[in-house]
Amino acid sequence: MTGRIQVGGHVSSSGGIFTAVKRAQDIGAEALQIFVSSPQMWRATAHTPDAIAQFREMHAAAGLGQTWVHNIYLANLATETPEQLERSIGSVVNALTVGHAIGASGVVLHTGSHGGNGLAQYLDQVRDALKQILDTTPEITLALETMAGQGGAIGKEFEDLGTLLRAVDSPRLQVCLDTCHTFAAGYELRTPEGVEATMQAFDDAIGVEHLAVVHANDSKTPLGGQRDRHENIGDGHIGTDGFRAICAHPAFAGKAFMLEVPGVATEAHPKGDGPDAENIERLKAIRDAVAVPVA
Ligand SMILES: [Zn+2]
Ligand SMILES: [Zn+2]
Repeated sequence: MTGRIQVGGHVSSSGGIFTAVKRAQDIGAEALQIFVSSPQMWRATAHTPDAIAQFREMHAAAGLGQTWVHNIYLANLATETPEQLERSIGSVVNALTVGHAIGASGVVLHTGSHGGNGLAQYLDQVRDALKQILDTTPEITLALETMAGQGGAIGKEFEDLGTLLRAVDSPRLQVCLDTCHTFAAGYELRTPEGVEATMQAFDDAIGVEHLAVVHANDSKTPLGGQRDRHENIGDGHIGTDGFRAICAHPAFAGKAFMLEVPGVATEAHPKGDGPDAENIERLKAIRDAVAVPVA
């Protein structure tokens, strides 16, 4: 795949799902990611047909690129509690259904936690859950996210995700690479050679053609630190050189890069205000300085 990277960000949709479009425009984003339901609650937010229609109209009028939905954080397809599994499946079904209604490209999912026991023990359960989800939802992508490994998260190793993609065997099941998580999991991203080796490992374990979307976050944690702590672009351990190497690698051409960064501290927001215009600008500048690679 060739083409320009879309620089996007995760924005709030509080006050109506369509309000996310203006928030994305206000920070200069070219693509957006949203929650369609409160991320720490099981109960799904109801969206009126009017609010959904308004999202589609505003999105088209704004000329924005891809929309992605992030699933709620409570989901865990490897849970040992049947009730939690059912709720987890329900949350992904809801995200895919609403995502399809608003014209999203897909849903990003933290697959779950094996609690340090390894994926193998839960493979059949997670595979069956993913199949059930895909069988009962409309035709948009479900992207499993690479994880830092905190709490035994599935997806620390690329092999976990490759195993699941092959087990489910659906063209709708793809992968979201989070730069912070992947780096914290131990995959080098600071140099062109490191990015090349990491994407070779991704290709070997999963297949680069299954990379659907990117979470672009710098890392507060050093290489292999296994802790999920996002940093503003250029201010973390991956750094500007790392993001330059990432943007220059052909595997990332044409992908939507969603910022999930804390935001630069200001007087009004001493801890930052999430993906902001400054981080969008930083990533656009890095992208624009790199020649568009030919895959
Ligand atoms: Zn992420
Ligand atoms: Zn994270």
